[in-house]
Amino acid sequence: MDEMVNNSIRREFNKAQEILLVCHLRPDGDAIGSLIGLGLALETAGKTIGLVSVDGVPSTYKFLKGMEKIKQTAIENYDLIVAIDCSDRQRIGLKEYLDRPIINIDHHATNNRYGTINCVNPKAAATAEIIAENISDWGLSYNKDIAAALLTGIITDTIGFRTSNVTSRTLNLAADLMSFGADISDIYRRALVSRSFEAVRYWGAGLNKLHKQDSLVWTSLTLEDQKKTGYSGKDDADLINVLSSIEGVMISIIFIEQPEGGVKVSWRSQPEYDVSKIAMEFGGGGHAAAAGAMFDKNLKEVQEIVIRETQKLLVNKQHS
Ligand code: 5GP
Ligand code: MN
Repeated sequence: MDEMVNNSIRREFNKAQEILLVCHLRPDGDAIGSLIGLGLALETAGKTIGLVSVDGVPSTYKFLKGMEKIKQTAIENYDLIVAIDCSDRQRIGLKEYLDRPIINIDHHATNNRYGTINCVNPKAAATAEIIAENISDWGLSYNKDIAAALLTGIITDTIGFRTSNVTSRTLNLAADLMSFGADISDIYRRALVSRSFEAVRYWGAGLNKLHKQDSLVWTSLTLEDQKKTGYSGKDDADLINVLSSIEGVMISIIFIEQPEGGVKVSWRSQPEYDVSKIAMEFGGGGHAAAAGAMFDKNLKEVQEIVIRETQKLLVNKQHS
């Protein structure tokens, strides 16, 4: 990271006594791992911290030490906010306290630099990688729990070092985290491989409705599917990774009905297609190969609009 940015972050961390750290709505492993990793590092440095994930902690990440500190609301007052893995302010989901200085730490290319200090590196494979790389320049250090949280962020966002943004730097940092005591095989199993019975039944509901048209596949997960299978998350239980492993598929999409209304859409693509462009058209964001957006319309309407727009991307690419 830019030396000036790192110096400013170090100065802010030194100056602040109470720091609110917040990750994005519908958090993933990178959001939770980075939140805990940086939070514990600041706490170890003597700061009072508040860790907030408005949508709570998915059960997959509850094994992480420090997860019990995460609350769904910020009730106290803080003099500095650190937004983690959030590409825009809306992704934070908190209305309070956003008038304080914000340090924006993220790796999404779609990040709109809303922070007072922007520590954004779209080349990093995970926000946890940015934190691991720069933590000592911010005047902080690792311990075993911090290392385990950050390695969880890196492993989950890269689907076990498989995404095209993984570099030798990612692997070197992961090795550093291991040398601080992070147990890679335990984290890999808990955060990436292990599934609840309900989650696998929920996959079944989605796989039953799988559609394919040329190199595009899609399916939906409804509130009814949740009820029938007993799966209680608002997400796709990572079913999207199964879809994107299908041979010949360039883009996969999952439509997930949300309990509070609306539909969450997730896209995954092969390197030549940038699905973050479509997600941004609809107010969402993400990476070229993995993006998402929220829609206020019903499932049928959302499917029609999104499939039409995604097919356009596939056709345009063929003609270019
Ligand atoms: P997923 O489809 O797994 O929810 O997310 C894929 C990527 O897109 C992640 O990097 C995630 O942070 C981003 N993303 C998902 N939904 C949204 C959204 O509604 N807004 C923005 N800005 N990014 C999103
Ligand atoms: Mn991330």
